[in-house]
Amino acid sequence: MLDNFKDIKTYCNSLTRYSRYKTREVNIGDIPMGGNNPIRIQSMTTTNTMDTIATVEQTIRMVESGCEYVRITAPSKLEAQNLAEIKKELHKRGCKVPLIADIHFTPNAAEIAARIVEKVRVNPGNYADKKKFQSIEYTDTEYNAEIDRIREKFVPLVKVCKEYGTAMRIGTNHGSLSDRIMSRYGDTPLGMVESALEFVRICEDLNYYNIVLSMKASNPQIMVQAYRVLIEKMEEEEMNYPLHIGVTEAGGGEDGRIKSALGIGALLEDGIGDTVRVSLTEDPEFEAPVAIQLVDRYKYRSEHKPIKPVEEIPYDPFNYTKRHTYEISGIGGSNVPRVVADLSEQEIKSADDLSLIGYYYNPTTDKWSLNDSAPDMIFLGNKELPFDCPSGLKAIYDFDFWKQLQDKSKGYPLYKTNEYSNSESNSDILNLVSINLGNLNKNLIEQIKNDKTVVLVLETNNLHGMPEQRRAFIEMLIQKIENPVILKRTYTDVTIDELRLYSSTDLGGLLIDGFGDGVWINVKNIQITQPQNKDNVYVKNYTKSTEKNEKVINRILFGILQAARVRISKTEYIACPSCGRTLFDLQETTELIRKRTEHLKGVKIAIMGCIVNGPGEMADADYGYVGSGIGKISLYRGKNIVKRNIKSENAVDSLIELIKEDDSWIEPG
Ligand code: SF4
Repeated sequence: MLDNFKDIKTYCNSLTRYSRYKTREVNIGDIPMGGNNPIRIQSMTTTNTMDTIATVEQTIRMVESGCEYVRITAPSKLEAQNLAEIKKELHKRGCKVPLIADIHFTPNAAEIAARIVEKVRVNPGNYADKKKFQSIEYTDTEYNAEIDRIREKFVPLVKVCKEYGTAMRIGTNHGSLSDRIMSRYGDTPLGMVESALEFVRICEDLNYYNIVLSMKASNPQIMVQAYRVLIEKMEEEEMNYPLHIGVTEAGGGEDGRIKSALGIGALLEDGIGDTVRVSLTEDPEFEAPVAIQLVDRYKYRSEHKPIKPVEEIPYDPFNYTKRHTYEISGIGGSNVPRVVADLSEQEIKSADDLSLIGYYYNPTTDKWSLNDSAPDMIFLGNKELPFDCPSGLKAIYDFDFWKQLQDKSKGYPLYKTNEYSNSESNSDILNLVSINLGNLNKNLIEQIKNDKTVVLVLETNNLHGMPEQRRAFIEMLIQKIENPVILKRTYTDVTIDELRLYSSTDLGGLLIDGFGDGVWINVKNIQITQPQNKDNVYVKNYTKSTEKNEKVINRILFGILQAARVRISKTEYIACPSCGRTLFDLQETTELIRKRTEHLKGVKIAIMGCIVNGPGEMADADYGYVGSGIGKISLYRGKNIVKRNIKSENAVDSLIELIKEDDSWIEPG
């Protein structure tokens, strides 16, 4: 944490009062973005752009699912030209959704597309540069000469956009920064921002301002920091362009939703974002409903209870640093964040019931085994387990119940603040004290600061909950309270789908700023039915109806820690969402790879649809499985290609061989 924190600038209107960060309005067809407009929803087609009817039909499904803009890839002049046919057919079918052409490497395609569609997206990492993964030292003169070269390639597109009233997104991807940017700024959020601003400055020199910016990464922590740096830099240069927010290559299913909600939600909480795209390795019509669920949470957010304002920011929101805490009974200090399973409402009859949360009892050997997603603590409220708790799993009881236990060493008490202040019978090892921002008064602060057995359980009932909890951390930093803190959120009347997105935002948004030594979710009255849009056939339910809530919640908690990269308990997949360039069935292949490798804890595998963009966007993956032709796959170790154009039917086996060669393989089971 910082010694001199007064110099830290903010990146949003307020860290404690919800309001949208105001940007300029940009016209995109008939649907303006930014300014006072609602947060727009968008997605991208996965069909072959040359297949007009398939693209049109998918676009219509996307619009029905809630998309307000639809992006279509234009990898060459041919596809760019075909956008005219697609647009014509869409208009014939009564669909006037603004279209966006997605451009990588091909200025000539961009200049054609900009005459046809409402917006073009360019990637500053590859519009004028080809990536060779080379590190070159540039002098200032050489660097400026490079900018002039970019200007020469980029100016014609800006002129077309100006002439045709076409908007432009300058969209940086963390994985595809140019060698030039990497050489000067490194693989950093600042590098991402500079990559875009170099292009923006060229636009402004030509008086072109119909611009939207994005800073995507598959690591939500990097992505959030990059948007924060972008706002800081825009303010320095008096720019105010609308922000398109999203986590790229998030993958699919539950993990994809958690990762997306974590990054997108963390920004939305601070009022940042004018349009949202959730990128999932699924059909694109399943993306908008997730984005809508995320965005709808802020409709009435400004009505939240006031939170004490922040005068100083005692941490650096642009760089990750974990809040310093001392260790108490394996919680805090240098330990990974702990997971609490709330079983207080669950009837537990036998040891078998703990298999729900990853603890397996073998009566023959009288031993427990546990999987990688087994929690560290269980909250039992006011009931005892009818068997001995597995060693290593800490049982937590309500204080009233704990104090009556014959054998108090069976667990640890959870106090309300007044109980803790007045209690004389505490545990010698670990006492959990439930607090919220309002409880952090002088007396309590003095008491807990001097008690090296106290772990705080931080709660909130404010509608603007994440910022209120963050405010509590700010207070703790100012007051130099170093007790570990477990983040607890209670949700009432939510579906599992909502719970997954909301908790990822609320807990994840704090974890990526280095706050929290543990996580805990309590849910009251979980809804079985689907969320708000019951008529929307594109809302997917990722929870099997037979699964117990406690199991799903435990999985969500571990998923959040993994997405925030603070506790790795499983394989990480970085899968592109696919587009018209995709050379194999991404969903099927991702599933196949996942089935064979999901036991490889901590290994990062990227599954990318094409060799044009894939390798550049694999971010920090350990292995890459990349489409390099029809029926052909190339395999990467890090950024290096190691097997070229192997037949796709052998490619998964070859990937596993490669992992084995590196001694990173373990047998499943
Ligand atoms: S990596 Fe995937 S999403 Fe990106 S251009 Fe290639 S196929 Fe499309």
